[in-house]
Amino acid sequence: MNDASFSALKNEVGTCERCPLGATRTHAVFGEGPERTPVVLVGEAPGAKEDESGRPFVGLSGRLLSELLEEAGLPREKLFITNTVKCRPPENRLPSKTETAACRSFLAAQLRHIRPRLVITAGNAPTRALLGTKEGISTLRGRLHSCVWEGMELSVLPLFHPSYLLRNRGRAEGSPIMLTLADIREALRLAREFTPGF
Ligand code: SF4
Repeated sequence: MNDASFSALKNEVGTCERCPLGATRTHAVFGEGPERTPVVLVGEAPGAKEDESGRPFVGLSGRLLSELLEEAGLPREKLFITNTVKCRPPENRLPSKTETAACRSFLAAQLRHIRPRLVITAGNAPTRALLGTKEGISTLRGRLHSCVWEGMELSVLPLFHPSYLLRNRGRAEGSPIMLTLADIREALRLAREFTPGF
């Protein structure tokens, strides 16, 4: 896919009605960031602020994750940030299996175009979608996992879901925030190992 096709893909997402979420969204959230980056961050689905603005990770929990990325030395501007599902599920419910399946080809096209060396997943939904596991984020987070997804070999490092971090903001040793900072630093170390100079 060339840059023009990537832009066409963004337009296609913007008008997509493949699943019922297309009828209730304000804006589809394609994602943002450099297309030539070794690291892609994949979240679950847009929330209210994302739906309103058309941008990913701009609500309270997304902003917290952005602050942690910055603090750990991996600012969000260096990553392409997107979600498993591009439109907001009403009342912030979990996307259904059908909705996730309908949107799958968009995430696949994004990853095929960007070809990241590392995919950071935020929370259970994107982690399980890529790794094809039912294991929970508590046991998967902070470790590098390899998988083949839509014909692509991916290296995946899962983090806690940002809304979980928002509910657990303490910074005691071993707290979700401190574990996530360590996980992001590990992601940065891996990204630099995979792509010297990053
Ligand atoms: Fe289309 Fe995905 Fe939005 Fe559903 S969630 S309408 S498949 S862009």
